[in-house]
Amino acid sequence: MSYRIGSGVDYHQMVEGREFWLGGILVPHHKGALGHSDADVLLHAICDAMLGALALGDIGYHFPDTDNSFKNIDSKILLKRTTALIHDKGYQVVNVDSTLCLQAPKIASFIQPMREIISSHLNIELEDVSIKATTTEKMGFVGREEGVVAYATVLLQKKV
Ligand SMILES: [Zn+2]
Repeated sequence: MSYRIGSGVDYHQMVEGREFWLGGILVPHHKGALGHSDADVLLHAICDAMLGALALGDIGYHFPDTDNSFKNIDSKILLKRTTALIHDKGYQVVNVDSTLCLQAPKIASFIQPMREIISSHLNIELEDVSIKATTTEKMGFVGREEGVVAYATVLLQKKV
């Protein structure tokens, strides 16, 4: 059995008046993440971890922000395309572990629906998707609510 592990990290600025898409969910908040796509930091980190596991480059290479077809795109589409890409290479996702770093808002109640969306897009079980969240104790750009960060680790397995 062949296994591959990958890691991903993503950062987005938080600005007033943007929708805040996180883990495929629209989170009610006065600020949202700034980006060319819907700026879903968690889905981007997971895509990067999946691509990294197979040394396929990064999300910016596959879905460049210079391409207008990706403007404001729903990152669930990018996650689906990344899943298709690794399937084409003969691999499937075993599990995902991730951590979100943000000061506000409180997102505990959104973790479960995020896990449901991500597991369904990756064709894996709910218990194979972990999402943890932390503040930075008000330190740094995350603590000042200027930005949001996500880290993800993904294990892939060669399909038999
Ligand atoms: Zn991103």
